[in-house]
Amino acid sequence: MKNITEVKDLCTGCGTCAGLCPQNIIKMEIDQKKGTYVPIIKGECNECMICIKVCPGIAVNFEELNEFVFQEKPKDIILGTYKNIYVGHSLNEKLRSESSSGGVVLQLLLSLLDGKIIDGALVTRMSKNDPLKPEAFIATTKDELIDAIGSKYCPVPANVALNEILNSNFKKFAVVGLPCHIHGLRKAERLKKELKEKIVLHIGLFCSYGITFLATQYLLYKLGIAEEEVKEMVYRTGDFPPGYMIIKCMNGSTKKVSHVKFWNLVFNHLIFCSSKRCMACRDQTCELADISIGSGWFPYLQYNLKNHSLIITRSEFADRMIKRLNGSEMKMLRVEGKNGLKRLQEMEKFKRDFLKPNTGILKLFGNKVPSYGVSSSKEKRISTGMYVWSLVRYIKTELSTKKYLWPIFKFFQNLDK
Ligand SMILES: Cc1cc2nc3c(=O)[nH]c(=O)nc-3n(C[C@H](O)[C@H](O)[C@H](O)COP(=O)(O)OP(=O)(O)OC[C@H]3O[C@@H](n4cnc5c(N)ncnc54)[C@H](O)[C@@H]3O)c2cc1C
Repeated sequence: MKNITEVKDLCTGCGTCAGLCPQNIIKMEIDQKKGTYVPIIKGECNECMICIKVCPGIAVNFEELNEFVFQEKPKDIILGTYKNIYVGHSLNEKLRSESSSGGVVLQLLLSLLDGKIIDGALVTRMSKNDPLKPEAFIATTKDELIDAIGSKYCPVPANVALNEILNSNFKKFAVVGLPCHIHGLRKAERLKKELKEKIVLHIGLFCSYGITFLATQYLLYKLGIAEEEVKEMVYRTGDFPPGYMIIKCMNGSTKKVSHVKFWNLVFNHLIFCSSKRCMACRDQTCELADISIGSGWFPYLQYNLKNHSLIITRSEFADRMIKRLNGSEMKMLRVEGKNGLKRLQEMEKFKRDFLKPNTGILKLFGNKVPSYGVSSSKEKRISTGMYVWSLVRYIKTELSTKKYLWPIFKFFQNLDK
């Protein structure tokens, strides 16, 4: 490969190439058909190959990167390196309710900024001018951090903002990202020492699969709301898990859609609004982050209990930073060792087990797949049923891009049921 545009369907849309390009000529633009961000070269490329070297779409060598990040082989073959597993939530009721899980990401960032442990953080908010577009930026104040609260269930090229970190006079940053963002960032840090020195905490979000813009577009289509009519989009908020979305329109009306209904519509229905590259991902809990945070999906937390976050600390520093919050800003419950670990392993293993059938199906249809530098040796035997499941997912992913079929699909599901 000569440059990043040749990565094509392997691209995760993370933006690392654009953030690291020394000539600053790579821009992330939306591919309307796929509903994802893709890199475009705008200028004369000198083929330095940095974009290819940092691209997590092509390859993520987990063994080497684990060694680079933690100086050791993963403690757990499924979950990666970890120190402790916790369940917790912010003690600020407003933040807890407005966040997507327990508000732990925000609470942690606020505490780091307040304690001058960081000068700023790379976070993502929805654009004020273009409410359906995400905007990754460096937040340096409490208000800016709060502005970025909540999960954005759309593609986010967050690592574009890495060049701001590189060019900033500030010295210490935290970064929040999905597994693909953190993969790209770790590859970039191996190449650029100053990036490694400046980023003191990598906060990774759990991710089963990324979601394309087609999901939002299909939902709006189903609701009969034109995209230009949307004034504000909040993807996931509310007191009780898993919460709901809020769509505020220019005419003053507001629509609430439960997260479960949104999820069913864009994943469990006739279409699967994710990318082919996400089908080939093996990392749900963000193995290369210093701290990984997800929703409180443990069964004992799910019945009528308010939002909680699941927390895996992977480095001593991250563990200290979380313990620092305990009591004053965050209520933390230590997960009973083995049960919590087992539950998380099962979750991650589900994704790992499907890697082989998923990549098999992708290859069958002529798609390239990423290389991970590790064998998935602990996989269980792959049954025919799993291949069928992967095939169905592949077909549904393809169908999600066929907008001309949406008028037909639309009749098969009633959002109010
Ligand atoms: C696409 C996607 C898929 C997910 N899948 C799962 C899953 O399968 N299982 C699970 O347990 N959890 C999943 N999560 C994580 C979950 O939704 C919460 O983000 C996480 O639990 C943290 O919640 P919180 O209340 O502590 O975060 P908050 O305090 O609300 O803070 C969220 C932080 O995440 C950042 N952020 C939000 N969206 C994005 C994004 N798309 N890319 C980069 N940064 C972002 C914001 O800038 C903010 O700093 C997913 C999140 C996303 C965006």
